[in-house]
Amino acid sequence: MGDIKDLFEAIKNSNKVYDIELIKKAYEFAKKSHSGQFRLSGEPYITHPVQVALILIDFGMDNNSVVAGLLHDVVEDTIVSKKIIAANFGEDVALLVDGVTKLGSVPLSTKRERQAENIRKMLLAMSKDVRVIIIKLADRLHNMRTAKGWPPQKRRNKSLETMEIYAPIAQRLGMRLIKEELEDIAIFYLDPIAYEEITQMLREKEKANATSLKSESYIKYVENMAFNRIKHMVKDVKISGRLKSHCGIYFKVYVNGKDWDEVFDIYAIRIIVNTVAECYFVLGAMHDIFTPLANRFKDYISTPKPNMYQSLHTTVIGPGGVSFEIQIRTKDMHYTAEYGIAAHWKYKQKVNGKASLEDKLSWIRRIIETQKESESTEDFVQLIKNGLGSEEVFAFTPNGELKSLPLGSTIIDFAYSIHSEVGNKMIGAKVDGKITQIESKIEMNQVIEIITTKSSAHGPSRRWLNIVKTSEARNKIRAWFKKERREENIEQGFEELKREFVRNGLQLTKSQFKRFIKLVCEKYNYSNVDDFYAAIGYSGLNISKIMPAIKNFYNSCEKQEFIESKKDSVCEEVPNVGSGIIIDGVDRCLINFPKCCKLKKNEQIVGFITRGHGISIHCVECKNVFPVKDNLDKLDRLVSVYWNKKNIYKYLIFFTILANQKSDIISLVTSKFSEFKLHINNLKADFLQGNKLTITVSVYMLHLRQIGLIVRNLNKIQDVTSVEVFSKQVS
Ligand code: MN
Repeated sequence: MGDIKDLFEAIKNSNKVYDIELIKKAYEFAKKSHSGQFRLSGEPYITHPVQVALILIDFGMDNNSVVAGLLHDVVEDTIVSKKIIAANFGEDVALLVDGVTKLGSVPLSTKRERQAENIRKMLLAMSKDVRVIIIKLADRLHNMRTAKGWPPQKRRNKSLETMEIYAPIAQRLGMRLIKEELEDIAIFYLDPIAYEEITQMLREKEKANATSLKSESYIKYVENMAFNRIKHMVKDVKISGRLKSHCGIYFKVYVNGKDWDEVFDIYAIRIIVNTVAECYFVLGAMHDIFTPLANRFKDYISTPKPNMYQSLHTTVIGPGGVSFEIQIRTKDMHYTAEYGIAAHWKYKQKVNGKASLEDKLSWIRRIIETQKESESTEDFVQLIKNGLGSEEVFAFTPNGELKSLPLGSTIIDFAYSIHSEVGNKMIGAKVDGKITQIESKIEMNQVIEIITTKSSAHGPSRRWLNIVKTSEARNKIRAWFKKERREENIEQGFEELKREFVRNGLQLTKSQFKRFIKLVCEKYNYSNVDDFYAAIGYSGLNISKIMPAIKNFYNSCEKQEFIESKKDSVCEEVPNVGSGIIIDGVDRCLINFPKCCKLKKNEQIVGFITRGHGISIHCVECKNVFPVKDNLDKLDRLVSVYWNKKNIYKYLIFFTILANQKSDIISLVTSKFSEFKLHINNLKADFLQGNKLTITVSVYMLHLRQIGLIVRNLNKIQDVTSVEVFSKQVS
């Protein structure tokens, strides 16, 4: 085997058009390049690239992939360069061969760093042209098929690599046939004892079969039963049966620790029909002639697996009490199930062209993107493993509705997959009838009942954002916070922004910070600072992502006035002087009146210590404050505040302001006092010679600490030349 004749034979049977001349030329070229080389098995080396090309034809790959398959070891193993290949076989083939060669040039190492580097290379190659990986998979498949000739250590290493890298990639590309074969061979070398046990077990199951039929005949027997039941219902039906693969059983029993008795689907039959409707008809018919096992039905048609796999699965009890799995799918689904991404080439007309290919590859780009952010190699290896091996877990609602979630999903994810309101109002959960922590991970086939409250004040916890597995749940939780927790989001956002500034070495005074953030808001189209903070707070705006841009913006503004000006700007918040509100235990602090409450004098009020905005004064009914009461760590930020009914001020302060005589000077001065919410007790203006005047203003104040700030603000008025202060204690 491994002759040019085999290639032509395979091409003839493939029903696809190949460039025979070019393939012949590639064969001759490879044969010449590898002449004198032998595989460890003793065969001439050329047999290997021919076998790889045969696998690629079987996958239905395009002409250039097959040509590249023939040439894939030429550059690596001989002195022939990329240029010569390009000149003889075209740029496309040269790129494919180069891609495969580069993947192979990383020396094998069991070190995780190396491994991560390997995977990263593969993903990059894949994101450029997925055919490179498919050729590499075909190469690996043939090498594993012929691994017998290798020394034991090499067999182990290659098997390990196959299990950890190649099989998961094949799985993720939906290429079931190649994935199972790779794993079966790898397990044979890695765990020969388990492999033998599985073989033994399959034999025993066969003996225990009450119909006393051998596996092969038993499968034929149920195939016939199924066919006779549906042959009049659907035209053009194909039924095939098989024994479960060793690797499938290996994972269930040796990896996941299931009991042998729990391995139901040792036998499986597959029914292939034309339409989706027929799938469900056939399912009904199968449940009619065989008894279905409870909780073993999976509908991957309505919820496809992440690798696009679609099918109906059910496990039934057949003749002789033997349980087996039935898979029902359409032809299109079948092609995708067997060949995965390669179905794109094999049955090109059936797949919706480039868009669906892009779809299938989007996860690669996601992994590469994420990798740019995570710096540690450990993290990356973990990420790849999670990403590649991402399988689902199934659970049911009490009404029997099936939910499919990524492995590792929690009950919180489950609740949000039903409806965002179910998640938001969740207070607990019952799993298979038992009260269970909502953080718990879902296990296969659990029946989960979510307990909700009707209270409108109840909502999710921010902590959940770090617990949930699905982005669906995370987005829904964020959406809730965006809508319901504006105040909290503003604080959270403000804190985050401050941290980012410190981390990026931007040292601004409080007032510079305020002015700069206003400019940032303008730049990013936020109508006010609070909206900007809130967006950061509910993670609508990823601050660490935009921070480099902000830093550049800062550097470009640095010379401008807003940074140079060292004077304090007018505070946005109202200093609590003469506001008529007394805060328990706090003598002097900034207060603010948020928009949510329109306070009436002497109404019951409560204060909430914000971060960076002083104390917010709310009415006690305010729904922005109420949930805080249920939140223990926020509870100590509530302070009691009340209206100062007596208006007792300790001091009477006289400000004597010397100014130029301008028509609006008096209104400018009084407006400064009202900015500080100070009520003017008395005002007197004396006109002096030389166009000057003195304005004397007296106000009542609780203490003297605010005076310096007021004086500075008065001095900012253009025509004010000096300010003098005199204070008098009144109580
Ligand atoms: Mn090779």
